[in-house]
Amino acid sequence: MSYESITTSANTEALYTAFFEALSSKSYLMRADAPRYTILAVTNSHLELTGLQKEDMIGRGVFDVFPPNTSDPSDTGGKDFLASLQYVLSYKKPHYLPAQRYDITDSDGRFVEKYWRAESKPVLSPDSGEVLYIIHTTEDITDQVKAAEMKEQIKGMEEAAALKRLYETITNNTPDLIYVFDLNYRFTYANNALLTMWGKTWEDAIDKGLRENGYEEWHAAMHEREIDHVVATKEPVRGEVSFPHAVLGKRVYDYILVPVLNSKGEVEAVAGTTRDITEHKLAELSILESNERFRNLADDSPMFVFIIDVGELAPVSFWNKTWLRYTGQSNEEAMGRAWDGIIHPDDVPVVMSHYTPAFQNRQPYFIPWVRVKRYDGEYRWHAFKGNPRHLPNGQFNGFVGVGFDVHEQKLAEEALKQSEAKARAAVDIARLGTFEINVLKQSILHSPRLAEILGLDPSKQWPYQTVINAVHPDDMAIRLKALERAKETGVLFYEARILQPDQIVRWVRLNGRYLYQESQPMIVGTLMDITQEKKTAEELEHKVMARTMELQAANEELKRSNQNLEEFAHAASHDLKEPVRKIHFFTNQLKNQLSSLLNAEQEKAFSRIENATERMGNLIDDLLLYSHVSHRPIEMEMVDLNTKVQRVLEDLELDIREKKALINVERLPVVKGYRRQLQQLFQNLISNALKYSKSDVPPRIEISATKVMKNEKPYYQITVKDNGIGFQPEYADKIFQMFTRLHGKGEYSGTGVGLSIAKKVVDNHNGLIRAESTVGEGSAFLVYLPEE
Ligand code: ADP
Repeated sequence: MSYESITTSANTEALYTAFFEALSSKSYLMRADAPRYTILAVTNSHLELTGLQKEDMIGRGVFDVFPPNTSDPSDTGGKDFLASLQYVLSYKKPHYLPAQRYDITDSDGRFVEKYWRAESKPVLSPDSGEVLYIIHTTEDITDQVKAAEMKEQIKGMEEAAALKRLYETITNNTPDLIYVFDLNYRFTYANNALLTMWGKTWEDAIDKGLRENGYEEWHAAMHEREIDHVVATKEPVRGEVSFPHAVLGKRVYDYILVPVLNSKGEVEAVAGTTRDITEHKLAELSILESNERFRNLADDSPMFVFIIDVGELAPVSFWNKTWLRYTGQSNEEAMGRAWDGIIHPDDVPVVMSHYTPAFQNRQPYFIPWVRVKRYDGEYRWHAFKGNPRHLPNGQFNGFVGVGFDVHEQKLAEEALKQSEAKARAAVDIARLGTFEINVLKQSILHSPRLAEILGLDPSKQWPYQTVINAVHPDDMAIRLKALERAKETGVLFYEARILQPDQIVRWVRLNGRYLYQESQPMIVGTLMDITQEKKTAEELEHKVMARTMELQAANEELKRSNQNLEEFAHAASHDLKEPVRKIHFFTNQLKNQLSSLLNAEQEKAFSRIENATERMGNLIDDLLLYSHVSHRPIEMEMVDLNTKVQRVLEDLELDIREKKALINVERLPVVKGYRRQLQQLFQNLISNALKYSKSDVPPRIEISATKVMKNEKPYYQITVKDNGIGFQPEYADKIFQMFTRLHGKGEYSGTGVGLSIAKKVVDNHNGLIRAESTVGEGSAFLVYLPEE
């Protein structure tokens, strides 16, 4: 309908009625005879809509045809309709009723969702402008409503999509793990961080339970219990857990599970977030560790170490073990202000007089003298130092400090004070001259003793120039140099000669301080006559020099005579060898010629001579050997000890077989050395091991080698060990001396030279040799040869 209102008169009523009925809109026409509103005409479309017959409506009041539903107060349809009609009457304007849902049944008897809008329009009198009729039209707006609804829905969907994107951007870019469980403990959501941690894709992980996603049994069971708890209580659950990450290894996590409530307030799901707090934990740990380190350090310190909490009364919250040991307090006993009973009562106010202002101004403090009671009741003087502590945010957090024993200093200082008076006396006793020079005025005040040292009349005060001129002209430079230095260091010190008026030369020592008195440069000091001292020192020096020279000469002499001796021994042994051989030869011949004539006694004498010459021959051989090894060949070479020992064993083969000796040689090193000497060394050690064996036990000899460090240098340690008769350990050093024999020549033949040779050889190789033994159990000889 496009008309706004129709102007008419009573006589055209019939025409209108006919016309009206043909209209396609769903309308009816009423007379404006409130409150009845008689229906005059109705369109066929409207009749179709309501299913009423024309007769049911025409001529009847509108509220008779459509009575308001008075049984349901919430149904305001009737009231709204009446108000609409009254509005049209009063304002002479159309009135639109709001859209209403009113479902109708379709031809199959099913309800169809329908929305309606109605309007009431006035028909005015052209003369009076009064409302004559009201046309009420109903319009089906279901399609519009549906379209609008659809639009809303689409809009809502777009908003939801945008929100979803937003959420996903957030949840997938945080390092925190975000996830949602349904009530069957299955994951319905997991963000990227969590998927990465599992090393899984969304498809692999979603709608799976905890175990399927790789949680260990204990861990899965724990979370399931927590989910149950959240569902039951609707309260969040928070916890900390440690487990391995796919990439980062073992980590510590902090997590919180919260209920997701539906519109009815029931728990529909459980959402969780988990945060990796490993770094945080490590930081916590490192703080703990650094605390621990502090404690260890403090406990190891010889000083007292303490921590004072924030407080006017200096409450201590930490004392190190040094304090606890010193005071005898237990840790608990020492806390707080317990130090009050340990510090000497007279010194507590001293402590507070330093502490209080330092505490108020958050400044360091130093208390030089405090008596601290030891566990045995003795007080000792200590100094204390405190430094303010601050939290990382800069907030003042009390003090950390140390205390240390200054007892001896304090006593010394006291003694010093007492002795200051004595010092004056000492100056006199020491016969020191004293003086005070005003540098600018070039004036001097001196003691009588000073004049005396300079050879001047001690009953007078002498002028500055006279005193200065007393310095020997040759030593004036020494004085000037010392003065220069004194200007920098404040200390004036020199020793110089003076020339007395009678030309006698004496040595003096000047000891002074360069200082400022009321901004005047002054030199204050003492002068000492050191002539005697100098003389004695000089004499001593001469003596030391002479003695050193004597010693040097003696040393040279000794070396020379040693060499001579060795040369002599060598020559002598050489020359002795021949005569001894001759004695042996001729004795033997004589014995053979006389053999039939000799009685038992004479026979015995002959064999004695034989023995003696043999021993003598051996001795000469050994001494010759010794003098040989005393001369070092020029060049060392690489010597394989394995072959050397093998050679020795071959040489000793007869002996070995006879004694049924068992010899075990381990792998030995190749060393740099003198080939023949090293063979001699092992010859002597192994033959001793065979010789000093027990008569009833076959000898067992072990020759082995290892590497060892001696004085931070690498050595080969070669051991020759036997199971023989052994010797008393106190002779372990002595046996290496020439001619030392522990076992009698009756039982064991020998010269006492073999080990001296061994030692000499080892010395030549810059090595060491020592012996270990237990009587009756065997001996071991350890040879150390440098690896290089
Ligand atoms: P000797 O010619 O007497 O064997 P050495 O110098 O070789 O001279 O040895 C000195 C002494 O050290 C020997 O007389 C002996 O008493 C003792 N001695 C040396 N080697 C051994 C050993 N393997 N077991 C027990 N005593 C030993």
